[in-house]
Amino acid sequence: MAEMFHEDDADLAVIQSKTVAVIGYGSQGHAHALNLRDSGVNVVVGLREGSKSVAKAEEAGLTVKSVEDAVKEGDVVVILAPDQVQATLYKEQIEPNLRPGAALLFAHGFNIHYGYIKPAADHDVIMVAPKGPGHTVRREFEAGRGVPVLVCVEQDASGQAWPLVLSYAKAIGGLRAGAIKTTFREETETDLFGEQDVLCGGLSKLIQTGFEVLVEAGYQPEMAYFEVCHEMKLIVDLINEGGISKQRWSCSDTAEYGDYVSGPRVIGPEVKEHMKEVLKDIQDGTFAKRFMDDQAAGAPEFKKLRAEGEAHPIEAVGKQIRSLFSWSEEVDKDYTEGS
Ligand code: NDP
Ligand code: MG
Ligand code: MG
Repeated sequence: MAEMFHEDDADLAVIQSKTVAVIGYGSQGHAHALNLRDSGVNVVVGLREGSKSVAKAEEAGLTVKSVEDAVKEGDVVVILAPDQVQATLYKEQIEPNLRPGAALLFAHGFNIHYGYIKPAADHDVIMVAPKGPGHTVRREFEAGRGVPVLVCVEQDASGQAWPLVLSYAKAIGGLRAGAIKTTFREETETDLFGEQDVLCGGLSKLIQTGFEVLVEAGYQPEMAYFEVCHEMKLIVDLINEGGISKQRWSCSDTAEYGDYVSGPRVIGPEVKEHMKEVLKDIQDGTFAKRFMDDQAAGAPEFKKLRAEGEAHPIEAVGKQIRSLFSWSEEVDKDYTEGS
């Protein structure tokens, strides 16, 4: 059983006694910075020159400085720029300005686990990884709740890394929901596996393939969209509430029986073998290298694949259908379709 932490396991005073430099003000950055500030922590946001994020952070009442100046002030430096820029950012702007003994905090273990960032021995290297998008982390905090977090310590230079990581997790609201103790390796590899095999890669391809099969068989694209995409959220909500069993309980007996007899035909043993191959590429660094090499070359493969995904016919049908129905108003206003 995983070791878990709750509100009583952490002392907010630990993080309140420090200056926290949050580098990056995107999905996670804005949520961490604002939740920390609202928990009485001294926060300075570090952004590059000309950054689009400066205005947003300043409007929210935060102090914004250059990355270098923010790092110089930080007892804790939180690296919340995209994973693919962190290594260069660290080498050029963070490392030369770190205070002796400053703690380095991440929300994902990619750069530490695969060795793209190698901090000196006098820094605590810790992680608080919310198990949800940054906008949810902020929204839940404002509603008095929290998103569960993963917590880990890779390097405990101070001997005080655990009280620090737990205090930080509490300040962003994570302990209201609960924290699970893990390691950088486990967090990184399971996170990549989850998003590639199931949550993002597996799910996107499952929906697209289902859509293609129906449309190629002559059914209306709008019908296909409703059946294989729109209803997904309703099913996932039930699974979230009460597991796969609740979903099966709620749908018709016809659907439940079809689930048992046809699910294993679609996701057969070969899919499990493919998942193992993907896991192996994650474990041995093959995926990380492919991603980072492509990014270093200006992301040609990434851009090509993104354009192909956006051009899939389900996107146009979905956009049209969502604009016709009232539930389309529930979408997150921070995201503009087609941007
Ligand atoms: P975002 O893409 O949302 O971060 C963008 C921010 O980083 C912007 O403020 C951007 O500023 C800044 N930035 C981009 N490039 C640079 C640069 N070269 N130098 C300085 N600042 C830069 O990142 P996420 O919040 O998605 O991810 C941050 C970390 O959190 C990652 O490690 C990720 O794996 C992890 N994580 C993310 C989750 C999520 O919900 N998205 C969930 C859990 C973990 P500018 O305006 O200048 O472009
Ligand atoms: Mg991830
Ligand atoms: Mg149906």
